Amino acid sequence: MAGAKNGNFSEKISPYLRQKMSSRRGGGAPKFLTLQYAEDPLEKISNARESPRYYQSEVHATFEGEVLRGVEKLYRRTLLVEPTTICAAHCRWCIRGQCDTLTLSNDDLERIARYCGTAPENADVREILVTGGDPLILVDRVDFLLDSIERHATDVEVVRIATRVPLQDPRRVDKRMLHALRPRSTFRIEIATHINHPGELFPEVREAYAALQTAGARIYDQTVLLRGVNDEPETLVELFDELRHLDIEAHYLFHCSPIRGMDHHRTSIARGLDLFRQLSCSGKTSGRVKPQFALMTDVGKVSLCEGSIIGRDKDRVLLKTGYSYGDRLRWVPTWTLPASASVGGDGFLQVWYLDADEKKA
Ligand code: SF4
Repeated sequence: MAGAKNGNFSEKISPYLRQKMSSRRGGGAPKFLTLQYAEDPLEKISNARESPRYYQSEVHATFEGEVLRGVEKLYRRTLLVEPTTICAAHCRWCIRGQCDTLTLSNDDLERIARYCGTAPENADVREILVTGGDPLILVDRVDFLLDSIERHATDVEVVRIATRVPLQDPRRVDKRMLHALRPRSTFRIEIATHINHPGELFPEVREAYAALQTAGARIYDQTVLLRGVNDEPETLVELFDELRHLDIEAHYLFHCSPIRGMDHHRTSIARGLDLFRQLSCSGKTSGRVKPQFALMTDVGKVSLCEGSIIGRDKDRVLLKTGYSYGDRLRWVPTWTLPASASVGGDGFLQVWYLDADEKKA
């Protein structure tokens, strides 16, 4: 491990979270909050194989004579739009924490909607993932974007909005937000969220998620596996049991990504698989709350299954994926193969992924 300076992902803790971190009777701040939000000197330590951000998936294209900003694409059906990189609080483990800051204008957003609806490479797109940053920090911008999608991208059937606002500042889930998320005529709205510990589900948080559901949004969860926060089977069982109770769909249990300075948050893949087994094959939760255990690789998400790991070196695993190189270039003509990936003899992408060392815990 070589010591290195990190990017500039400053500590940001919302007043709501600060109050929760200071108001616990008879004890210090809950570990599940401090480990997620308080800056740690260990972030200064990095490994040359860690990267400053998640996979490269920006669409490098001009449309209507303008350079597109805040658009990503890797898959056939889904286009990503990032209205802003601002969040209510900074999750220290965020895969986007070291990205440049950017907020799109309404002109940008309307152009993206037209791009989605008319560019030939988007003919198969049926979903838009609105992410960031946290888009629900700029509710009016999201309202405008949803109207633009309804007007210009009529083949889009689902708009997903990725947010942690209900956990970080639940009072923001107010009438204005619920109006912005009102049903549109051409697509349904889904909310993607990361709930990582059952303790995060304070009464206000539960009310905020319930209000979003009442407004018509379906909610799904992508829990991030974090060392010291939720890497015990009892914690995961309790969490996913609660999600079932709250009618929040269990989508992914994400292995914490090898972003620069994040090693102290990461379990090994083997530990993650063991926890996944104890969560999903134990009979302790409903069979309807089994997430997929997935890794965020340089070519996209890979859910682990039999035969996924086809090689190892000192600290990495080589993963076989079902991503076809030919398809990828068809869907995203500007995409370039990352240095960590290669094309197998069968035309599918293989990719190296940095494991973590459990013994350092
Ligand atoms: S709210 Fe989302 S985008 Fe913002 S820091 Fe947390 S994980 Fe990252």
